[in-house]
Amino acid sequence: MTHRIAVVPGDGIGQEVTPAAVEVLEALDVDFEFVEGDAGDAVKAETGEALPLETRDLAADADATLFGAAGETAADVILPLREVVGSFANVRPAVTYPGLDAVREDTDLVFIRENTEGVYTGIESEITEGVTTLTRVITEEASRDIAEFGFDYAAENGYDDVTIAHKANVMRETDGLFLETVEAVAEERDAVYDTALMDALAMHLVMHPEEYGVVICPNLAGDMLSDLAAGLVGGLGLLPSANVGRDNALFEPVHGSAPDIAGEGVANPTAMVLSAAMLLDHLGRGEAAERVRAATETVLDEGPRTPDLGGDGTTDGVTQAIVEEL
Ligand code: ATP
Repeated sequence: MTHRIAVVPGDGIGQEVTPAAVEVLEALDVDFEFVEGDAGDAVKAETGEALPLETRDLAADADATLFGAAGETAADVILPLREVVGSFANVRPAVTYPGLDAVREDTDLVFIRENTEGVYTGIESEITEGVTTLTRVITEEASRDIAEFGFDYAAENGYDDVTIAHKANVMRETDGLFLETVEAVAEERDAVYDTALMDALAMHLVMHPEEYGVVICPNLAGDMLSDLAAGLVGGLGLLPSANVGRDNALFEPVHGSAPDIAGEGVANPTAMVLSAAMLLDHLGRGEAAERVRAATETVLDEGPRTPDLGGDGTTDGVTQAIVEEL
């Protein structure tokens, strides 16, 4: 069966790493049809819209979307795109790869980040000059959805440790509800879990990442803790992510458009290629996904490597090495 994949490179290094991931997918024996759409700063400058209707429709009608990155317009692009695919869960694995100079070599974490609410609902206002507010929304329904997804993910992927990150001692109503709901789901399933205050968890993840596995987080905590974990394993160039909905999904690197290195041809394509591997898993091509991960790991170990990993390789050089390995 042919799967239709929407490809939205966006801005900055999104323009470099997204074609790299498509090249890797094309090297596999999978029947994909790629349809490309525009989004981000460049298309906004041209048309006034950061996410044109055609791109929105492409993502809605596709079996899955590969998204690169957006610059200044990131919130205007990725938040609606996640909504278009009905994504409620953001899956962010952070794993140490052999041969890389990681801060922590024994890291195997997966952040399951709630993806629809928290402080990302955009409900902000200036009450009066010099006084601003933000409304943090937490619902029982979304907390239950992320909990069920997180515990299913842990069981299906062989993780025994599940930690619920929260700050219910301060955000008593919102994180109180989050914690209570996620714990209720754990108890319904007799699942083993632990809870942790998100700030203390940040410290423990740095000192003892090996003690953690799946971490179920409210939206902002998931964003920050997964970036912290990126630092543990070798940087943002390595972390893929999936935005999963009930019938559709979008895959993107955790990193942004990296304007500081955009256009130089040296962006690390690993995060994007591993996002494509997550796409393969999602579409039932687990074997192809494993091949991509194995080829990527070999190249990470043996080189070439891009400058963020201490090498002098290029995006294209790394991509060709992965393709050859495949
Ligand atoms: P944005 O606002 O779009 O998120 P940003 O620069 O704030 O952009 P990132 O794009 O995530 O945030 O980049 C943070 C840092 O990590 C930058 O120094 C960038 O060069 C580096 N970085 C991110 N992704 C990669 C990559 N794929 N390869 C190499 N370096 C990267």
